Amino acid sequence: MTMPTAERAAVSARADTGIPAIPAGVAGHRPRVVILGAGFGGLNAAVALRGAAAEVTVIDRRNHHLFQPLLYQVATAALSPADIAAPIRGILSRQANTAVVLGTVTAIDVVGRAVAIGERRVAYDQLIVATGAREAYFGHDEWAETTLGLKTVEDATAMRRRILLAFERAEDGADEAERRRLLTFVIVGGGPTGVELAGALAELARAALARDFRHIDPKTARIVLIEAGPRLLPAFPPSLSAAAARALTRIGVETRCGVAVTACDAAGVMVGDERIDSRTVIWAAGVAASPAAQWLGVAAGRDGRVAVNTDLSLPVHPEIFVIGDTARVAGPHGPLPGVAPVAKQQGAYVARVVAARLAGRPAPPPFRYRDYGNLATIGRREAVVDFGWLRLTGRLAWLVWGSAHIYFLIGFRNRIAVALDWLWSYLTYQRGARLITGSDL
Ligand SMILES: Cc1cc2nc3c(=O)[nH]c(=O)nc-3n(C[C@H](O)[C@H](O)[C@H](O)COP(=O)(O)OP(=O)(O)OC[C@H]3O[C@@H](n4cnc5c(N)ncnc54)[C@H](O)[C@@H]3O)c2cc1C
Repeated sequence: MTMPTAERAAVSARADTGIPAIPAGVAGHRPRVVILGAGFGGLNAAVALRGAAAEVTVIDRRNHHLFQPLLYQVATAALSPADIAAPIRGILSRQANTAVVLGTVTAIDVVGRAVAIGERRVAYDQLIVATGAREAYFGHDEWAETTLGLKTVEDATAMRRRILLAFERAEDGADEAERRRLLTFVIVGGGPTGVELAGALAELARAALARDFRHIDPKTARIVLIEAGPRLLPAFPPSLSAAAARALTRIGVETRCGVAVTACDAAGVMVGDERIDSRTVIWAAGVAASPAAQWLGVAAGRDGRVAVNTDLSLPVHPEIFVIGDTARVAGPHGPLPGVAPVAKQQGAYVARVVAARLAGRPAPPPFRYRDYGNLATIGRREAVVDFGWLRLTGRLAWLVWGSAHIYFLIGFRNRIAVALDWLWSYLTYQRGARLITGSDL
């Protein structure tokens, strides 16, 4: 096959720099940059490419960007889904060079340089894969059927439904054993998601629902948080893990560390030798990368993450970048964690690499993650904050946590909505989004 003149020119112009060529002008179009996923990584890459001389296409299976760190507040009826999600088209509407495609990526043809959405093919010159992560059940995929995960808006509303229905069914004449099962909530995984969910659930039961029922006392609900490792919040310093555990105990959460869940079914879990009966088991214990490694035909570790070069491109395929929860990137203390700031910084970085290639400039230096710290909240007035140089607990930490989350939310409307919702529930102890949606009870 002969290479078109423009492509040949681009390749030879770059051969001396070692920077992979972008076949500018092939078939009369501008270079095509395709971004898979409009989560934290993909969206940041897209926004950073707004002025680029390229046709940017963002493909996502949802029409909205989701602020996952506050999903647990939707699951516990503190916020509505629209408060933490924003339409991708709306966010990118002012970017003339960017198109949005609603579709589920099913394969990537790395040789033919095209992404498959079922039968449809979307050709690319540069590809950024940012399809995030999914739940992992440590070899027990069947546990997905009886536990509740938390990755999407649908997961959060399903969890909210299950939690609120448990109180309704307990009120509605269940026998004592079943009532106990209904009012016992088990959360597996003591990372930030598990800790935040446990705190929010305890406050829902002890405050927001406290006066609403006649036959049950929601305050007697049992909330058990299980962590297989030796302490909660393993990414935080031990003193902050201990502070979080104390704060949870104060609001009535039972915490179990150093014991693993060995079985899950529709009526409870086995924790070591102990059986805990529960109708609501929440899985916050592990994630694995999206199936990008399969699409790309590359090997991946048990967590499914794809190893990349220091510029986040794929070995052998420098025109493909993998970022965020889907990528495995070495950091100073092991692989970088699957958190939003890593994905955002990587998105902005690959946009710089692509922009440099488009402009024929030398590539930026290798990606380096700037870790600004870790935050987690426990209920409406406690949090733990670790900036490395500064560690905070209690109300001040909560204020830092709250301000940071409002600041990072996408869109002015969402910031205002969340701030008002929080103020309202802080003053009244009420939860504004206590809706049981779905028709079958
Ligand atoms: C409940 C929860 C709480 C969290 N709390 C925090 C926190 O407090 N702080 C923090 O820093 N991090 C937190 N995280 C982690 C953080 O959200 C992730 O690290 C971050 O979202 C990763 O960004 P990403 O761009 O790699 O993937 P994502 O943000 O997950 O985006 C992936 C995108 O790809 C799309 N997609 C996936 N598969 C396909 C497909 N086949 N076709 C088309 N589109 C597809 C998805 O719809 C999604 O929009 C939390 C995560 C969860 C689930």
